[in-house]
Amino acid sequence: MGSILSARNTRFHSRRTANFTESVIREMTRQALRHGATNLAQGFPDFAAPDAVKQAAVEAIRADINQYAITWGSQALRCAIAAKYQRHYGLELDPEGEITVCCGATEGMIASMLAVVDPGDEIVLFEPFYENYGPDAQLCGAIPRYVTLRQPDWSFDPDQLRRAFSPRTKAIILNSPNNPTGKVFSRAELEFIAGLCQEFDALAITDEIYEHILYDGAAHCPMITIDGMRERTILVNSMSKTYAVTGWRVGWVLAGPELTESIRKVHDFLTVGAAAPLQQAGALALSLPDSYYEGLAADYSGRRAAILTALAKAGFRSFHPRGAYYVMTDISGFGFDDDISFARFLIEKIGVAAVPGSSFYATPEGGRQQIRFCFCKKHETLDLAGQQLMNISSQL
Ligand code: GLN
Repeated sequence: MGSILSARNTRFHSRRTANFTESVIREMTRQALRHGATNLAQGFPDFAAPDAVKQAAVEAIRADINQYAITWGSQALRCAIAAKYQRHYGLELDPEGEITVCCGATEGMIASMLAVVDPGDEIVLFEPFYENYGPDAQLCGAIPRYVTLRQPDWSFDPDQLRRAFSPRTKAIILNSPNNPTGKVFSRAELEFIAGLCQEFDALAITDEIYEHILYDGAAHCPMITIDGMRERTILVNSMSKTYAVTGWRVGWVLAGPELTESIRKVHDFLTVGAAAPLQQAGALALSLPDSYYEGLAADYSGRRAAILTALAKAGFRSFHPRGAYYVMTDISGFGFDDDISFARFLIEKIGVAAVPGSSFYATPEGGRQQIRFCFCKKHETLDLAGQQLMNISSQL
């Protein structure tokens, strides 16, 4: 037994996988299923995708769009992506040389990082951060430099950000609207970051999957549209959140032609391509009228109000999100030693799954008194969770 274990530790595992664990977010979904808990952990909708989008996928399969698409994406989807960015942001993209369709934003991020980062290069990350970026950094051998987003408004100290950049910086990872904080980076903040990218000759790799989920008049500004950033931004996005199809795994990466060439090589050998019939449906989804996106933001506004009210009643201190569909909360009022034991209590005694805050920090200390709830759920799910959370005080 001992020899098998030591063989496991020393011989059968690559060093690049040694320093990260499986995703805590996805583990929480498995725990929720095991305990029959209401799942406000992993961020996926429990409501239906738009009918027209589902219909387009069914028709694509019936029309025998069932073989590989072109490895970097079907022409129909790449053209729809270009048309959407032109319509929403006035951004001109060449579907032939600047768009790579991939298996979700998750593949988009790792393919992009593998394409541009050499082992030992530094990357700048705002903390708290979406947990995938840690393993992404490990897999490509990057050295992360963390910059704190400070409660309660998740602002950053420009001097700390400047100090995180160096001649070794290859890229900054920017997720706006932000998971888990709900921060939407302002144009002034983006311009400051853009200035540093230019001064230090670094790239911006931007995860923009919550671009249409915005509150209180917040606006999304893609970094790629900021002066001087067209050639040094890699924009990653996907259908998942905007069209409520997280299980489809259809995403895209936008970048200048030379960067795209490298990203496409990595993408091709990692996955060959995203599901062909779902790409076909994506072409229809991305052509939906503006009213679809307005409805999406309005619906999410209602869900945000419901969860914030429920959390306040149950005794949480919430950081109000301006975008995305998560609420970070402060749990120090409940008297638990750490976020993990509180998350376990929530699942086992209260029947609600959430994500321990420490999974968004490089060291667990940062998130020790924080828990993240997602609210991409039906009102009835949010109401049920609200009732369950009301039992916390009696179970303490
Ligand atoms: N973005 C989702 C979250 O933070 C999870 C995405 C995933 O599990 N791939 O909960």
